[in-house]
Amino acid sequence: MSPAPSRPASLAYIGLGSNLDQPRKQVATALSELDALPLSRVSVASRLYASRPVGPQDQPDFVNAVVALETYLSPLALLDQLQALEQRHRRRRERHWGPRTLDLDVLLFNTTLVAHPRLQVPHPHMHTRAFVLRPLCEIAPHLRLRGQPLEQWLAGLGDDVTPLA
Ligand code: ADP
Ligand code: MG
Repeated sequence: MSPAPSRPASLAYIGLGSNLDQPRKQVATALSELDALPLSRVSVASRLYASRPVGPQDQPDFVNAVVALETYLSPLALLDQLQALEQRHRRRRERHWGPRTLDLDVLLFNTTLVAHPRLQVPHPHMHTRAFVLRPLCEIAPHLRLRGQPLEQWLAGLGDDVTPLA
C-alpha cells in the first residue's frame, strides 16, 4: 500500500469466483492483483473453495474465495478497480472461452450502506449464498448480516461448498 493518508483505512470484503479457464489460477492471480491495487492491501485471504454452480448445472464447478481488503479507495473507486481487473481476465477469456472467468463482488465496506445504480453494499444476495458465506465465515466468523451471525445464515442453506486441497 502506498503512503497512508492520515485517516484510517476502510475494511472491505471482496468475493471472488471463477469457473472457466483454469479457475484456481484465475482466483490465485486475482488475489495478488487485489493486493497490488492502489491504496489497498489484502489483509486476510480465505482458502479456495469449490462450489456447485447456482442456476444452470451444465457448467463447471466454481472456485471461490473471500478476502479482507484494507483500502483508502472509496466504494465506487474500488468497484472501478475490481471491474478493470475483471476486464483483464475477461479479455483473456473472451478469446478462448465463454463470458465468466472472474467475478469480483464488493460484499461489505466497513458498515457502510451503498445504494447506487452501480453498487449495492452489503451485496444484496450474499446472505443467501453458501459459496460467499463459507469463505467469509473462515476469515471473519464474528460478522453478522441483517442482525444474524454468518453461521446461522449458513445453517439455513445447503452447504455443498468445500475447501480445496
Ligand atoms: P453478478 O456478480 O451479480 O453475477 P456481474 O458481476 O455481472 O453480476 O455484475 C453486474 C453489475 O452488478 C455490475 O455492473 C455492478 O455495477 C453491479 N453491482 C451492484 N452491486 C455490486 C457489488 N456489491 N459488487 C459488485 N458489483 C455490483
Ligand atoms: Mg459480480
